[in-house]
Formats: sequence, structure tokens, C-alpha cells
Amino acid sequence: MRVIVIGGGAAGLMAAVMAARRGAAVTVLEQNNVFGKKILATGNGKCNLTNVKQDPQEYRSDTKDFPWQVVSAFPLAETLKFFTGLGIYTRNKNGGLYPYSEQASAVRDVLCMEAAHLKVKMKTQERVTCIRKEKEGFLVDTQTYTYQADRVILAAGGCASSVSGSCKDGFDLAKRLGHTVVEPLPALTGLKGVGAYFPKWAGVRFEAQVTLFENEKEAASQRGEIQFTEYGISGIPVFSISRFAARALNRKSRVMAVLDFMPDFTLEQLSVFLETRMENCGYKTMEESLVGLLPQKLIPLLCTEIRYVQELAEKLKNYPIIIKDTGPMSQAQVCTGGVSAEEICPDTMESRLVLGLYFAGEVVDVDGNCGGYNLQWAWSSGAIAGISCAGGTI
Ligand SMILES: Cc1cc2nc3c(=O)[nH]c(=O)nc-3n(C[C@H](O)[C@H](O)[C@H](O)COP(=O)(O)OP(=O)(O)OC[C@H]3O[C@@H](n4cnc5c(N)ncnc54)[C@H](O)[C@@H]3O)c2cc1C
Repeated sequence: MRVIVIGGGAAGLMAAVMAARRGAAVTVLEQNNVFGKKILATGNGKCNLTNVKQDPQEYRSDTKDFPWQVVSAFPLAETLKFFTGLGIYTRNKNGGLYPYSEQASAVRDVLCMEAAHLKVKMKTQERVTCIRKEKEGFLVDTQTYTYQADRVILAAGGCASSVSGSCKDGFDLAKRLGHTVVEPLPALTGLKGVGAYFPKWAGVRFEAQVTLFENEKEAASQRGEIQFTEYGISGIPVFSISRFAARALNRKSRVMAVLDFMPDFTLEQLSVFLETRMENCGYKTMEESLVGLLPQKLIPLLCTEIRYVQELAEKLKNYPIIIKDTGPMSQAQVCTGGVSAEEICPDTMESRLVLGLYFAGEVVDVDGNCGGYNLQWAWSSGAIAGISCAGGTI
């Protein structure tokens, strides 16, 4: 069985190893001059390769149940067994698992070592321009050569980030074979608000709850350290909800992020608490009474046009920001959207439209939350595509 894997990133390398282990003659075609460039950028160069907390909600798609069907077929335990076998001993940081060496290159390198050991042909600077379905198998054109294959795994990633290799090729190649592509939009990125005051709070980091509303209906909510920026809000909780904002904005919905600066208090508790604070130090102005509770830069903004403690408590619990945009695709960590999962069989990752064509990784309409879930998606989908295209079973 001749298998061509298009894309030598996380999903493509996993798929190549799994297919080769089951006896397939595998060739990986990668347009960059090295494999796994994006892996090197993950987790600030340390590679958060998965997470001990696995839950269906961490994986998102227009085809709701699809990601979890795939992830639970090649779950965390299988992933750890696989990487342990390659020599990766992990380090647990708040649930996120990293190679003990804290070097993302280790993850890329062990995958390449295993592929080489299995005699996978690893071709760099080979950009695939067309996949042609023949009566028997496929012809895969690059800029320099035409490869023959019995089966093809499309693992060309998505168009997020500025890491070299990120592009829309995978979507275009799939479209030309008749697949539908859910519009790719930025995810795991900051949110741009409407207002001129943002530069005043830029640089502040503060733990809060952020809740996203689409047309007044709650779409997502996360708690964690918010980063206040020149354009609005960022930080891990904002990254987590950004894909819902991107999809809502794309639907032309009204999108609002509401911050709760004191999520451990109910509104009533907060009113009483603030009132007591002010009574205890009656010589202080309202702004002065917030010193020690909130970061200095936020205080004047939160006290603007506030006369009563009750109003202040309401503002601290429900601080609205109208969202006009997400961060740009070039700054997003992943994209939401991709090849419609409705057209892919979750048991095998094979196309329902083109027999012998398989998909893996970010090219599919699946995006994970922050915390190692995008790589877990790449490992699970890559493993299943690799195993099943070589005729194996999970
Ligand atoms: C800065 C940053 C940090 C991140 N940190 C984490 C993290 O810590 N944990 C986590 O889970 N996720 C993280 N992610 C997300 C994660 O890296 C991706 O979701 C994952 O790498 C996707 O794997 P993939 O194999 O599908 O795509 P990619 O890794 O993008 O690989 C696709 C490959 O296909 C190649 N290619 C594309 N088109 C062609 C073509 N026409 N011909 C030949 N080759 C082609 C590309 O050059 C690329 O090498 C991060 C992303 C970024 C940008």
C-alpha cells in the first residue's frame, strides 16, 4: 500500500508513523525545508502536547459530536503510550503535559526519528499543488514531480499564525476534490473592542470571568487571567472564547464580552463589601477605596460616571465591551473552520466523498481549546487516519 501524506506537521508525522508501522510504504511531502515547524512554536517553545483533563467541550466543530468521537477512539492514554514509546517522558503543569526536557523540538525530533526508523520517505520543499483521483488510486502533483499513491492523507494544517507553512492549500486541495470548507476564521486570539479608552488600561493583567454573548444569548464563559490591551482584551480565557466570537461576528451577530472583576462575590455580597470598605475609611474617595482591590490603571475607568456604591458593584460584576473583531489570522494560534467534518467518517478519518482520501489535523473543521487540545486533536486524528488508511483497525 503506497500512502502519500501531505504536510509534515504534527498530524502528518503521526499519521505517517502509524501507517508505516502497519506496513504501508509512506512518503511525506512537506513544503517547508524542515518538518514540524509549527510544533517548535507550540507552548512557547515547550510544546503543551496534551492535557490530563479530557472533556468533549474542549473540542469544537460545526459537526458537534465528531471531534470527541475521534479523540475518544485514540485518547489521552493511547497518546501517552505512543509518546512514551518514542522516549518522551512528560511533565505536568496544571494539567498540561510537556516533554520533560521542556523543548518542543524533542516532540518533533522523536517523530522524525521514528519515521526514519520505519523507512518513511521524508521529502521537504515539496509543495503539493493538486491531488488527482484516478480509477485506481491517486496522482499527487508537486511543483517538481508527480507521485503515485493508493491512498492520500491530507494533513496540510490551517492558515492561522505566521509560522512558515500556514496556508490555505489544504482547504483548496480538498475543495477541488468536491469537499465543503467551513469558512476558516481566527481562533485562540484576542478580541478587539469598540471604544477609545483601551490604551488607558493596556498592560494590566487581572483575574476575572469573561462571558461572551451573541445577540444577548450567552455563548461561552471562562475565568482566568485577562490581559488588558491597546485594542481590547486578551489572555488565555479570552483565547478560549474567541472562536465563538469569530463565528458570531461572521454571522453578523451582535457580540458582547462582559467582564466580572469579582467573580467570587454575588452582586449583593459585593455591594455590602464595598460599602463596608468605604465606611471603614470614610476619609477616602470612591476611587481611593478601590486601591488594594483593583489594579491602579483600572480604577478611574471603572469609577467613571459612578455615584453610588450599588452602581459600582454592578459595573464590577457586569463590565460590557462591544466586540467588533478578533485578532488577525496571522496572530491566531489556530483557525476555526476547515473541511466539513460531516463529509468525513470519524471511525477512519476517510472522506465520505472520495474513497482513499483521508484527513488529519487542523485542516478539518475542528478546533481545540487552549491547553494542549489542538495537538491532541492532531495526534488522535493523525493516528486514526494513519492506522485505517494502512488497513489496520483502531
Ligand atoms: C504559536 C502557537 C503556539 C501553539 N501552541 C500549542 C500548544 O502548546 N498546544 C497545542 O495543543 N496546540 C498549540 N498550537 C496549535 C497547534 O500547533 C496546531 O493545532 C497543530 O500544530 C496543527 O497540526 P497540523 O499537523 O494539523 O498542522 P501544521 O502543524 O500546520 O502542519 C501542516 C504542515 O503542512 C504543510 N503544508 C501545507 N500546505 C502544504 C502543501 N501544499 N504541500 C506540502 N506541505 C504543505 C505545512 O508547511 C505544515 O508543515 C499552537 C499554535 C501556534 C501557532
